[in-house]
Amino acid sequence: MTFQSRIKIAIIGAGPVGSLCACFMAEYGYDVTVYESRTDIRHTETTIGRSINMALSERGINALQFINLDNIVIDELAEPMYGRMIHSIDGRKYNILYDILENKCLYSVNRNDLNAVLLTKLEKYQNVKLNFSHKLVDIDFKTTQLTFETLENPQKIVKPDIVIGCDGAYSTVRKNMIRLPMFNYSQMYIDHGYLEINLPSNLNKDILSAHYLHIWPRGTFMLIALPNKDKSWTCTLFMPMDKFPLLLESETENILSFFYKHFKDFTNLIHPKYLIDQVKNGKARTLISIKCNPYHVNDNFLLIGDAAHAIVPFYGQGMNAGFEDCTLLNLLLNEYEHDLNTVIKMFTSRRIHDTEAISDLAFYNYTEMRDLVARKSFLWRKKIDNILQKWFPQTWIPLHSSVSFTTIGYKQCQLNNQCQNKILFLVLILFATMFGIAMYFIVMSTSTTISA
Ligand code: FAD
Repeated sequence: MTFQSRIKIAIIGAGPVGSLCACFMAEYGYDVTVYESRTDIRHTETTIGRSINMALSERGINALQFINLDNIVIDELAEPMYGRMIHSIDGRKYNILYDILENKCLYSVNRNDLNAVLLTKLEKYQNVKLNFSHKLVDIDFKTTQLTFETLENPQKIVKPDIVIGCDGAYSTVRKNMIRLPMFNYSQMYIDHGYLEINLPSNLNKDILSAHYLHIWPRGTFMLIALPNKDKSWTCTLFMPMDKFPLLLESETENILSFFYKHFKDFTNLIHPKYLIDQVKNGKARTLISIKCNPYHVNDNFLLIGDAAHAIVPFYGQGMNAGFEDCTLLNLLLNEYEHDLNTVIKMFTSRRIHDTEAISDLAFYNYTEMRDLVARKSFLWRKKIDNILQKWFPQTWIPLHSSVSFTTIGYKQCQLNNQCQNKILFLVLILFATMFGIAMYFIVMSTSTTISA
């Protein structure tokens, strides 16, 4: 019996991050019990409009590698996306590749499918117990006592040694932490929300070119479409929340004319009745951004994933960042030789600058996706970035590439981008000054010639 097997770890939440974290802990031989409030998603049908496709990128893949799931996920669940395909309002289309050097891609994965694969992996560990329909309702931080509501027992009590809260953006673990002194917390609902629309595979599928993330940027709102393995598309309309009732409660003709006006080529792909049904029966969902500090209480309660740092989805990094939390935990376990209490205390200071940076970058990317990608200045900047990246592949890594295709800390990615912006600004000033001086001498020499 190893010392790890005597340490009881409770993981709250069997979403993607909780399941992965439990696998990591199980690999090391800890005694892991996972508590999930819902029933097993593998036996529950997904409701249309609640599927959520996610862009899996380097940080997520890197974490999956530790439990040898990276290739399985990429080969069996994922569709590659090599760039953005922009659909202009006038019907023009153009692509913006993510990576011109090595043609790297993001992977479109259905959240439930990925979660299911992780749960199946988790079940195979002898040292893991998986409890569904166990809703955490209360915590006593002094005694490490957790109270769960289950189908049979309204007050099931357990006492683990370590608790890792992976219970998502509306975390109960975090709600209990908020009451404690010196625990800082902030949340912000953004003005925009989203509505999911499914584009089935059997309808004119060839019009949307595969292997791209399609975007219809319309200034204050946008539609995006991510490919699925079965050739269907998961589309999401992002729009100010106060505009949704006008659309969802509209007459059929008004809904259709909205889609025809703003997303004509998309609307031609979908049967009008199917579109109308989804819009009328759909629900606009809110988007929340959450920050807290620290991520731990005492030396035995820790928050990771959305429970610690839910971000808006526009950089496609929420789950990737949660998976990277698991990678950091792994690193710290090795660095502190499995002294879990020290690992938990060190986690916040090693992670918080990066998670706050990606939270800010995710806000910025919404403006980029719904507005900037349609502007000439953005496309010029992209061209300059591509040229500089070709010339200096080791030093000039554009922001999107460093966030999506490397494991450079998010904070460092943000700082590098600020530095690149300054360099480009200075070069622009230099060119403008040189141009000004040249013009001055040309004008002066012309006027001297005329007066002579
Ligand atoms: P969750 O997925 O929320 O899982 C939490 C789990 O805890 C759930 O199973 C829940 O049932 C359980 N739970 C909750 N309360 C309790 C309780 N009291 N007791 C027991 N169990 C409990 N991320 C990306 O990386 N790429 C993307 O492209 C991307 N796109 C997104 C698009 C949209 C529209 C949205 C909304 C999000 C997107 N994300 C994306 C973010 C991603 O979905 C989340 O970051 C990810 O799901 C977080 O995983 P998690 O396990 O931390 O939390």
